[in-house]
Amino acid sequence: NRFIECVNVGKIYPGKTGQVEALRGINFLCDEGSFVCLLGRSGCGKSTLLQLLAGLERPSSGQIAVAGRELDGPSPDAAIVFQDHGLFPWMTVQKNVEFNMKARGVAAGERRERARGFIEMTGLTGFGDRYPHELSGGMRQRVGIARALTTNPKALLMDEPFGALDAQTRGRLQDELLQIWEKQRTTVLFVTHSIDEALLLADRILVFTPRPGKIAADVRVDLPRPRT
Ligand code: ADP
Ligand code: ADP
Repeated sequence: NRFIECVNVGKIYPGKTGQVEALRGINFLCDEGSFVCLLGRSGCGKSTLLQLLAGLERPSSGQIAVAGRELDGPSPDAAIVFQDHGLFPWMTVQKNVEFNMKARGVAAGERRERARGFIEMTGLTGFGDRYPHELSGGMRQRVGIARALTTNPKALLMDEPFGALDAQTRGRLQDELLQIWEKQRTTVLFVTHSIDEALLLADRILVFTPRPGKIAADVRVDLPRPRT
């Protein structure tokens, strides 16, 4: 089944100094439950593709459908995890994790309960009352992942989520993400600069050309994953 469908997708940003063609002619079909890594140099449009799939930006040409739905606004089926975690510094971990549910009108009691579950799943038990600045980079990234998972997204769009972490923390979070992925059967699109990270995580790797980003290679990966 075609869970994500991009047909001839292009994206051109208007700019003061001239237009920027970020993506050109992207054709990409993706099955539900895949773990796809997007690999390519900085500026080749990887973040842009995630924004398009989340429905936060509109394509300049072509069509995008997620879960059988043409996007015409923020997708209810997708959640983004940002490299810089994108947490609200004035909210506790608990409130940050509850935020996406609150935005969707989930009642306070259920919010608290569900947030507790995801805080536990992401190894944040006991940190619910802390503020982001009191946490390490790895912990903040966990909060971003927990927040994204609370709305049961069918697609988890991750923009270099572990790029700013030390190697040991990155390794731990990679293992945890694989466990979550296997448990939740969420489709993951994961942007990275690292071939090693892509080989470790992905069952499919898309390689992008420099700007305008085009798909230069689309490779199935069948490697054993680390068991934890
Ligand atoms: P990345 O390493 O993911 O490419 P960037 O620093 O290029 O991060 O961009 C971060 C975000 O800033 C992008 O997701 C995009 O929305 C926005 N952005 C990038 N370049 C521009 C620009 N020239 N004008 C306005 N916004 C931009
Ligand atoms: P990547 O994630 O692969 O680093 P991006 O998708 O962030 O690439 O950016 C692709 C190109 O589009 C870059 O040249 C970037 O500066 C530009 N860009 C990204 N977002 C914007 C924006 N909101 N406005 C103008 N240009 C942008």
